[in-house]
Amino acid sequence: AKQAGRDNFQFFIPEMNQRAMERLHLEHDLRRALERQELMLQFQPQVSLKSRLVVGAEALLRWRHGAQGMIPPDRFIPVAEDSGLILEIGDWVLAEACRQTQAWRLAGLPELRIAVNVSAAQFRRPTIIRSIRKALEASGLPPRLLELELTESMVMTEAAALTRLNELRALGIRLSIDDFGTGYSSLSYLKQLPVDDLKIDQAFVRDISSDPNDAAIVQAIIRMGHTLHLSIVAEGVESQEALEFLAENDCDSVQGYYLSRPLEGADFERFVVTRGR
Ligand code: C2E
Ligand code: CA
Ligand code: CA
Ligand code: CA
Repeated sequence: AKQAGRDNFQFFIPEMNQRAMERLHLEHDLRRALERQELMLQFQPQVSLKSRLVVGAEALLRWRHGAQGMIPPDRFIPVAEDSGLILEIGDWVLAEACRQTQAWRLAGLPELRIAVNVSAAQFRRPTIIRSIRKALEASGLPPRLLELELTESMVMTEAAALTRLNELRALGIRLSIDDFGTGYSSLSYLKQLPVDDLKIDQAFVRDISSDPNDAAIVQAIIRMGHTLHLSIVAEGVESQEALEFLAENDCDSVQGYYLSRPLEGADFERFVVTRGR
């Protein structure tokens, strides 16, 4: 509850200091996390609804902190963004995701696509082009197997977004709009964007089988997306019912706990092999 007057003031300052201190500590540790190899990727399978085979994965960043254990990305990525560390970390994610995917390819696994999350700060920098080229060259991964996940707000609010999207597309990689439906894309603008996939935000997918509003929104996104020749990925699929609803409504692929949680590399490999792809 809010306190009035001076009490409020006295209460507020120590609270702020504690938060700032926490962030400072986190930033300090994050600087060392890369060299200490505390960062790792997990891979969440993406399954085609037509073939029911694993067609790719989303790479999700994990930080195994020496003292604090696993720190979720929602806690440390904002720190990485504010401190500028996200550029170095983002380069590592790109390189590691490409390396792992190419290693699976060379090991004889069926061809898989890898989706990598890109933050606004990374996207804004022209150097992202060089980072991607380097990751592709160092790994040998064909560009068509790399996909970048960009959020709606990044591509809608940045003035130079269209130019950057075209530059990225020219590398031969795929582009996806993440968390779709939470932003404010206009149809006419979306039409101009050189993107391949729409990822429906999990907020609309979770209760799809019980909430008629969510169901209608998802149906509309799928229909609209297909009109624009986009492939539709639904994330946050947590039940058989949600999966079947999406299949019946022509969604292209799915990702979520119902199929698999994000997995470490070796477990992901086993998952692909035992599922038949
Ligand atoms: P996101 O890109 O929307 O990623 C999907 C999140 O949903 C992941 O959380 C994933 O573990 C979780 N998820 C997957 N399936 C389900 C499900 O069925 N139910 C529920 N409730 N959740 C599900 P995670 O791994 O904690 O990542 C959180 C966010 O952190 C990501 O959201 C993304 O914005 C960011 N992030 C993760 N890795 C990276 C990265 O390498 N770079 C950047 N810039 N951001 C990243
Ligand atoms: Ca994502
Ligand atoms: Ca998402
Ligand atoms: Ca999200």
